[in-house]
Amino acid sequence: MLPYGHQTIDEFDIRAVAEALDKDWITSGPLVEEFEDAFAETVGARHAIAVSSGTAALHAAAFAGGLGPGAEAVTSPLTFVATANCALYQGARPVFADVSPDTLNLDPDQVASQLTERTRALLPVDYGGHAAELDAFAALADRHGLVVIEDACHALGAEYRGRPVGSLAHMTVFSFHPVKHITTGEGGIVTTDDPQLARRLRLFRNHGIDSDARQRQQEATWVYGMVALGYNYRLTDVQCALGLSQLAKLGRWVERRRAIATRYSAALADIPEVELPQVLPWCRPSWHLYVVRLRLELLAVGRMEVFRALRAENIGVNVHYPLVPRHPYYQELGYSSDGLPVAEREQSRLLSLPIFPAMSDGDVDDVAEGIRKVVTACRAR
Ligand SMILES: *Cc1c(COP(=O)(O)O)cnc(C)c1O
Repeated sequence: MLPYGHQTIDEFDIRAVAEALDKDWITSGPLVEEFEDAFAETVGARHAIAVSSGTAALHAAAFAGGLGPGAEAVTSPLTFVATANCALYQGARPVFADVSPDTLNLDPDQVASQLTERTRALLPVDYGGHAAELDAFAALADRHGLVVIEDACHALGAEYRGRPVGSLAHMTVFSFHPVKHITTGEGGIVTTDDPQLARRLRLFRNHGIDSDARQRQQEATWVYGMVALGYNYRLTDVQCALGLSQLAKLGRWVERRRAIATRYSAALADIPEVELPQVLPWCRPSWHLYVVRLRLELLAVGRMEVFRALRAENIGVNVHYPLVPRHPYYQELGYSSDGLPVAEREQSRLLSLPIFPAMSDGDVDDVAEGIRKVVTACRAR
């Protein structure tokens, strides 16, 4: 089975990890800072704070951004649950606004209509690796005194109006899960230009304590204070060794993802039952996902049958995502997808095709041929 995403690990990665294991610090040591500095430089941000997962990064950003009981954060229903959960972790309320039919990213007009006096944060997601409308969200945030937390877990390496994702929102969150652009096994990072936010993010990942073990060793002191309720969300030196080694390959991998997307779009262009992903002129996506939409009215079967037929062809298609407010937990909290007609309609016909840098052109052609075969067999007549 060709999966929808997969990590690439080479001998340099393995050597970097082995060398890190042989050093004094195997949890948070000098490699954490080295990785943070290299990452911040890559995305054009002043500060990067590495944590134990993308979810931890979202939680830390929700804390640093001041989300708490009584506050609301407006986000997309078409995302991984962790995006909205970070508000719940902080006792705040996620509010879902509808997406745009073109990119499936949060629609700024829909977001504007969901603002209340309780709104504290905007949480756009760069769906599939296509940047959200960040200027529009920045303008809304300025006007209403909000913080923008961009969930860029799909968008490492993407560009928005010529600027790299990671340098644009108050805080930008990335994940290093193995299906993402680079991996540390589990891991995540928050980037920001704001030194106060950076300080609060560092505090949060280390129990809310105002210094770390290495600082205390360097300063020859045992004194520390816990000043906020934080967590142990630290990333280790061993993971950061892998992260540094992976980061060196990011540019090549993003180019490869773009080439795969271009090849898919050419190979699938003449299949009327398949709508291709749209790219707006101001964005260079980094293609975490390649998501097509089925024209179900042209098919004699539903998405599930197409999905199963493609799986039977060993094509690891997937659906990103079930709408967050439709999950049982959210339903119990009283959420529904009422008022989200675009997300509801478009979600029902999405299909993610395999895309990862190690795929060959032959793999891409095989997937395209498999889709042609299945769709032709399922065509309504
Ligand atoms: C992967 C992902 C996350 C969570 O990242 P983890 O590292 O798996 O915790 C959050 N949001 C989005 C959109 C993601 O794709």
